[in-house]
Amino acid sequence: MKEGLLYTSSVEKGKIRVLITDPVDEYMVTTLSELGLRVDYRPEISRGEILRIIGNYDVIVVRSRTKVDVEIMKAASKLRVIARAGIGVDNIDFEEATKRGIKIVYAPGASTASAAELTIGLMIAAARRLHEAIQSAKRGEFVKITGVELSDKVLGVIGFGRIGTHVARVALAMGMRVIAYDITDVRERAAALGVEVVDLDRLLRSSDVISLHVTVSKKSKPLFGNEEFEKVKPGLILVNTSRAAAIDGKALLKALNSGRVGFYATDVMWNEPPKEDWELEILNHERVIVSPHIGAQTREAQYRIAIQTTQNLLQAIREVYEK
Ligand code: NAD
Repeated sequence: MKEGLLYTSSVEKGKIRVLITDPVDEYMVTTLSELGLRVDYRPEISRGEILRIIGNYDVIVVRSRTKVDVEIMKAASKLRVIARAGIGVDNIDFEEATKRGIKIVYAPGASTASAAELTIGLMIAAARRLHEAIQSAKRGEFVKITGVELSDKVLGVIGFGRIGTHVARVALAMGMRVIAYDITDVRERAAALGVEVVDLDRLLRSSDVISLHVTVSKKSKPLFGNEEFEKVKPGLILVNTSRAAAIDGKALLKALNSGRVGFYATDVMWNEPPKEDWELEILNHERVIVSPHIGAQTREAQYRIAIQTTQNLLQAIREVYEK
C-alpha cells in the first residue's frame, strides 16, 4: 500500500475499470494498478475509439486533449468518476456530469510554479524577441535585435489566483510594478505582496504588459474583445497561459494587425492544434509566439499532478462505491 493513499475494499476487488486517455506520470498508472484497479493506459487513443469502448469503464482520466462532452457521457453508461490530471476543467461538461451524478476530481495547485515560470519565460521572450534572436544566431547571421526592458514597466495581472499571484511575485522581484484585477476580493493577498488591485478599465489603460490567469467555463464570454483592445496601450505585450477562450481571437488578430497589441505570447490556442483560418493567421503572425500547451509539462508538476489526482480519485471512488 502506497503511503498516504486511501484504502478501499472495492479497489482491491478489482472491479473498477479505469481508462486513461492522455499522457500521465507513470506513478498514477502503477499506483492505481497496484491497488487493484484494472487500468488501461491509452495516452494516444482517438476520440472514435474512446466512444467505442467507454461503455466498459467506471472511471476516465484525462488531461486537456480529451473532451469529455455529452456525446462521450451518453456512451459511458457505467461512468462514475472523471479525473482531470491537472487544472482547468473546461474540457469537461460539468453540467452534464452533475446531471448524471458523475464525480469530477482534479489537481488544483499542482502545476502553479511550472505555469507561472513558463509565463515569465514567455514575457521575457516577447520583450527581447528571443525566438527571432535565437533563429538569427542559429542561421549564423547574429542580428542584434533590440528589445525592451521589463524592469519598471507596469504588469497587469488579470485573475489573481494561484498562478497570477506567483507570476506577480516573480515580476516584482524583476523590478516590475504590478497591478491586478479579479472578480473576487483579492485585496488582502495583493496588499501583502505590494500589488494594487484596480478595476479592469484602469488595468487595460495603464499596463505595458498584461498577463491572463483567469479560469474559463463553457459559458464564459471572452474577457478580451474589440472594446477591451481599444483601451490598451498601443504596443501592449499580452501574455496568455490560461485559456484561449478568455480572448476573442478575431478581435486579437485585428488588434495585432493595427499594432494596438505589439506582441502576443501564449501557451494556449482555441483549437490545439489550431485549425480555423484566423487562428492559423495568429499562429503564423510575426509578432506572436506560441508554445504547445506546456505550462504544466515539467517533471515536477507532472509528478505532483499524478499524486494529487490519484489521491482525489481514490477518495471519489470510496465515496461512490462504499456509501
Ligand atoms: P485559480 O482558480 O487559482 O485562479 C483563477 C483566478 O481567476 C481566480 O482568482 C478567479 O476569481 C479569477 N477569475 C475568474 N474569472 C475571472 C474574470 N472573468 N475576470 C477576472 N478574474 C477572474 O486558477 P489557477 O490555478 O491560477 O489557474 C489559472 C488558469 O491557468 C486556469 O485557466 C488554468 O486552466 C490555467 N492553467 C494553464 C496551464 C497551462 O498548461 N498553460 C497550467 C495550469 C493552469
